[in-house]
Order: sequence, then C-alpha cells, then structure tokens
Amino acid sequence: MRGCLAVLALLLASFAVHAADEGEKVVLIVWDGLRPDSVNEKDTPNLAKLAARGVFFANHHASILASTEVNGTVLATGCHPARSSVIANVEFRPEIEPTRGFNTEHVEEVRKGDGLTGGKYLKVPTVPEILRKAGRPTAVAGTKPVAFLFDRAERTDEEGAKNPVLFQSRTLPASLAAKLKEKLGAFPPPADSTKAANSEEDLWTTRALLETLWQGDAIPDYSVLWLSEADYAQHGAGPGSAPALAGLKSNDELLGRVLERLEAAKQLGRTNILIVSDHGFSTIVRAVSTPDALVKAGFTASKDFLKPPQKGDILVVGHGGAIFFYVTQHDAETIEKLVDFLQGLDYAGTLFTREAKKGTFALADVHLESEAAPDVAMGMKWSNEKNEAGVPGTLVTEGAKRKPGQGNHASLSPYELRNTLIAAGPSFKQGVRSTLPSGNLDVAPTVLAILGEKGGEAMDGRVLEEALAKGKTPEGEPATTRLETSRETGHGVWKQYLKVTTFAGKTYVDEGGAELTPKP
Ligand SMILES: [Zn+2]
Repeated sequence: MRGCLAVLALLLASFAVHAADEGEKVVLIVWDGLRPDSVNEKDTPNLAKLAARGVFFANHHASILASTEVNGTVLATGCHPARSSVIANVEFRPEIEPTRGFNTEHVEEVRKGDGLTGGKYLKVPTVPEILRKAGRPTAVAGTKPVAFLFDRAERTDEEGAKNPVLFQSRTLPASLAAKLKEKLGAFPPPADSTKAANSEEDLWTTRALLETLWQGDAIPDYSVLWLSEADYAQHGAGPGSAPALAGLKSNDELLGRVLERLEAAKQLGRTNILIVSDHGFSTIVRAVSTPDALVKAGFTASKDFLKPPQKGDILVVGHGGAIFFYVTQHDAETIEKLVDFLQGLDYAGTLFTREAKKGTFALADVHLESEAAPDVAMGMKWSNEKNEAGVPGTLVTEGAKRKPGQGNHASLSPYELRNTLIAAGPSFKQGVRSTLPSGNLDVAPTVLAILGEKGGEAMDGRVLEEALAKGKTPEGEPATTRLETSRETGHGVWKQYLKVTTFAGKTYVDEGGAELTPKP
C-alpha cells in the first residue's frame, strides 16, 4: 500500500511538472520604491520567504531617471526610455501641453499624444499588448495611474473581460469601474503620508485584482499589480520611518493574499511571481529652488511659460532628485551659460546635454535622448550618510513640495538606481542569490521568454538566463568602469563621473556624481 502511494505521489509530481511546462503564469507585483535592503524576515516575512525559495537579484538596476513613469514604461516595454519616449514623470512637449510640463501617465495627455502620433505615444509595444494581440488573457491593476501605460487601448466590455485594466479608480473598459465600486465600495481616500501608509488604497486595488479581474480559478497568463507602497510613506516620512515600515507590512500582507488566492485556485505551482521595484529611495537633507536661483543669476527661467517664450528662455521641470532644463529654440549661448552656472552650484550632481558638451555626459549615455528630451538634465547631489532611522542614502531635492527628513528619488545615487527584483516559481532556480548585474530593462524579455511569446528579442533588455531553471548563465565576468569628464569653469574645476557595469552585452549604470574643486 505504501509503495502504491509512493508511485501515485511520483505520478502526481511528474504531472505537476508537465502541467507547469505547458502553461505557466506570471504575476508581476511592483512594490513602488522598494529598496533591496528593506527586504528581511522581520519587516517583510512573506517576501523574504519568497526570495529564499526563488532568486534574489542582489545587483539589480533601475533605468535613469529612477522614477515611476520611466521605470514603469521600462518594465512594460523592455526598452530604454528614449526608445519608448517616456524619459520622465513630467515632460515638456509643447505639442501636447504648450506652456509647461505634463504628467506622462495622465490619460488625457496620453490620448492626445496617441492622437498626434497615430497611436505611438509609446513607440514600442508593451508586454500586455503583445499578449493581448496573441489572444492571451491578461490583467493589469495599479493603485497608481502608471498602470495605464502597461495597456492603454480602449476596449469593448467583451474584450475587457479577457484583458481588464485598472489604474487608480479608472478602468478599461470604463464599465468595469462601476462593478468594482459595487463590490468593494468607492476607491479609498489617500493616507496622510507623513503619518501613515497608503494601505487602504493598496488593499482596494489588490482585492479588485484578486476578486474581480481574476475570475474564478482561471488566472490570466500575465498579471500586473502595482502597489503605491513602499514609495508613498517613504516620501512622506522617509525610509525606515514608522509609516514606511507600516507600508512594507501592508504590502507583505497583500503578497500573502495573492499567494493564498493562487493556492485556492490551484495555480500557485504553475505561477511565477516577480516582485520588483521601479526605483530605490533616499532621504532629503535639503530642498532647493533652482528656477529662483536662475532668475537671480539673470536667466529668464520659470516652471510655466505664462507668455510665449523668447529664444533662450528656460523652462525648468523638477523631478525631485533631478531637473530638466528646456532652452527655447535650443539657444546655444544660453545652454553654455546654463551649464557653467549649474557647475557652480553646491548641490549639482551629474550633468547631461544633447551633444555631451565639455564637462557633461551625453543624454544618450543614459538613454534619455528622446526627440522631446531637454537641452540639459541634472542629477542632484547625494551622499552615503544615514538618516534618523539609520538608513543610508541622502539627496538634495528640487522644489519646496518636500522637506528634509522626508524622502525622494530620481538622482544618480546608488540608493535610488539600485532597486529590488525577486522571482520565484516553476521557471526559476531555487534558493539563489544572484550577484550578476540585472535591470528593470530585463524584466519584460524574461517574462515573454517564460510565457513562450515572441517579442523579447526586439527589446533592449536581456532574458535573465542565469536565474532560469533551464537557463544557461551568460559567459564572462561583469566589468565595471568609471567614465569621467572635467572642465575648468569660472568657479573652479568641475569633474563628474558615471560608474557603469557591462555584462552579457548590456550596460548597467551603477551611480553618477560630481565634484567641484573651487579656485584657490
Ligand atoms: Zn516616488
């Protein structure tokens, strides 16, 4: 009898492997702004367990800018920001919004962009779009509106039943929103991020996915769940603060719910779960206003062109840890003066220009050279110092919206460029901590490879073979180099660097910084 049972168990086990081979699923869960050093058994027990049974990518990279819409698009498309065209959360494209920057994930502006480009607001396809066109079921749900960028086409109710999209409280098809409201109540109001985590909104979104977008036991081939934590409370109260820890806890509980739901549907064994963050995080030590400083220095600069701009007028778009400068008519003389001015600021980090002017790198060096790119981009100064909670990594932030002690990102600090990827499931190796470089760029091609769908080969990222159970680790060792450029300015000697690592034919930016040695 015991022998029979053993044979039966063996049969069942082989059946399970066979079934998994035939139809694996992928659930991509974004913990917005999750630093890799936030993952531990105490604060994130479910995630730590998942990492222990799968692969922890200990050398993972966000794309530049280390911000949500940029890396959301990178995760969705597997392509560099300049190639997809989303290079910041807020961009100045006068044909869409004539006087100031617009939020690159806002439905109305995205629709306008699609209208102007024949549907090419994003110039490359996303994973859900590729799968939808192949007739495969998908589901996208985000507490943040970035989820819209994953799959933005209007759709009929019938199409939407197979490929639903939820972004904040809005949906595709539009009729889905009423169904969700009836089942879950209204989308909750946002939390006060200085005091609490945004758990209610994240819970609502997760329940929407698990209880409505996923119907019965039929889990879609590919799902995206984008949570607002850990970003939300880290912005309001800083990394390591009580609200930030509460955000980690609520995310971890939501991960538990996802696992239980998959288990109940008997799909856990064939589902690959990827937990990724769009970027890391730092603590603010100082808030500055660069438009004011520019005006004081004699430039015509503002955050909004209230009247039609003249040649050389500068539009300034702040991204917290970075700033974009758009010079009207690309006036060369103003750009030169602007670079010189910025190189004298005590909070300037790495500078980028369209043609890599002396003492700056090219926008193309970090894949920001889109048609609508600014003339000058600047990362803010950062440090390795610790905050009140003992969490390392600080930055100077642009704008008065956030204060010292609160958190921000988008600079070239390693604490923001280094982010989290954890993957577990039938396609992945077990109990591996990979120190080989990987990036958000690599997630989409890896997902398509797991799902057996074409399209990944046209992407800029690579399939993370070293982590796949049947993968072959790329040959060769990672090579880290330091690119430098310097220039003598009116203020002293400006020197800036980019630290980059190359592996498997891809280049990952580890960090960037700058130093001004004042004239004696
Ligand atoms: Zn953020």
